[in-house]
Amino acid sequence: MTVPGKQHFGRFYDQVKQFDVTGKTLLIPDMAPFASRLLASSFHAVGVNALIMETYKGLSLGKEFTSGKECFPCQVTLGDILYFLRQEKERLGTAFAPDQYVYFLPEADGPCRFGMYNKMQRLVLDRFEEFRDVPITYVSTRNSYSTVDIMPAEAASIFRRLCYVTIIIADILDRIAWRVRPYELRPGLTDSFMEKALEALVEEVELKGASLELKGLFDIVEDAASTAKTFIDTRQPRRPLIGIVGEIYVRTHPDSNQHIVRVLERFGGEVVVASIGEWINYITYDMARDQKRRVKLALLKKDVGLLRGALNDLIPTQIEKYYQMARQRQIYNRALKHLDIQRDHAISMLEKRLDKDRLYSFDIGTESALSIGAALEHLHEGYSGIVNVYPFTCMPSAVCTAVLKPLLNKMRMPYIDAPYDGAIQPNREIALRTFLHQAKQHLESGNSGNRNGKAAKCHT
Ligand code: SF4
Repeated sequence: MTVPGKQHFGRFYDQVKQFDVTGKTLLIPDMAPFASRLLASSFHAVGVNALIMETYKGLSLGKEFTSGKECFPCQVTLGDILYFLRQEKERLGTAFAPDQYVYFLPEADGPCRFGMYNKMQRLVLDRFEEFRDVPITYVSTRNSYSTVDIMPAEAASIFRRLCYVTIIIADILDRIAWRVRPYELRPGLTDSFMEKALEALVEEVELKGASLELKGLFDIVEDAASTAKTFIDTRQPRRPLIGIVGEIYVRTHPDSNQHIVRVLERFGGEVVVASIGEWINYITYDMARDQKRRVKLALLKKDVGLLRGALNDLIPTQIEKYYQMARQRQIYNRALKHLDIQRDHAISMLEKRLDKDRLYSFDIGTESALSIGAALEHLHEGYSGIVNVYPFTCMPSAVCTAVLKPLLNKMRMPYIDAPYDGAIQPNREIALRTFLHQAKQHLESGNSGNRNGKAAKCHT
């Protein structure tokens, strides 16, 4: 039997690859609004001309060129790239040069389908003669999203540290907005202020990011938290706190989740969505976990060569893990001086939560580990309801539902699944409104505990 290889799938090798993108326009699909813009500014800081594409306008294209079996984020991002390229071709006419663009579509190392999005989208782009020369590049969870193969080594090293900081800052901006907006003195005050804060941050990243002078960024975050606090109408009672867990793209991309945060706020909730930093920290944590296992195996085998190799991998990963933890704490503390936003979860805590309850294991991996762990952690943090937001047919999210639904029901914690595939479900708002009503009752009954970490009443 012939093993399919380069001769059969040459385009997957030639036109889906890692290469130095300097001098090209890097096309990035939009995801979380603050994070996407700060990601682009981090690329700009190291000399890469990154561009966040307009999003969701091409959804019908994404649906037209897929069979319906693909994951929803694949359809949305495919629609974004097709829409962008068509617009660009129309705008530039004969000056349109496909090889001047590079489409950036990260991938994950199994077990689900995210690792195949860029290959599948290559097949679609190849159906258009004029887009065949637009290469696709990626970063991968396999080496913890290293950019060393897509930009010069020195730039990659700066980018790695800068990008981590800007992702944490984006998470904090979101958390400031979610903490303040439901109680704002005047509608629209928070959103317009946060946009200005974002602009200031983008400017600072582009100006000083390359030198890793971060103080100015941290100052802007602190100022944003202290100013946003003054927007709160303190006469308003605290609302039930709703935690959103689920698949990272759909839960953070407002168009894909039909603006669920704002819908829940409109129905009387205060919402916190699982952060992007949590996923980045998880990738590093999981890599260190694997490497520790290799060290143990080498010790058992008494194999010095294996041990040396495993330690050589483990030590830098551990350093990176502690760097991330310290940086994250440092930036959160600047905001927390002024405003009681929710802290992010430590990944080790989420793993303990799972191990303790014997519900799921980090050995299985995927986002289910984080979503189940975070939902259990929310039980102890004074939350009044959990929403699982995910693409319709998403495999890890279905696992999550199977575990969380009966468990939270038993614990009398309001829980709802919110799957999305781009269709408008007429009963969704009614379901969310009813869920919010239950969350309010949960809060009023005292089952939510308090926001300082007192355990919620558990009925197991
Ligand atoms: S996490 Fe869900 S949406 Fe993402 S690739 Fe896997 S199955 Fe698809």
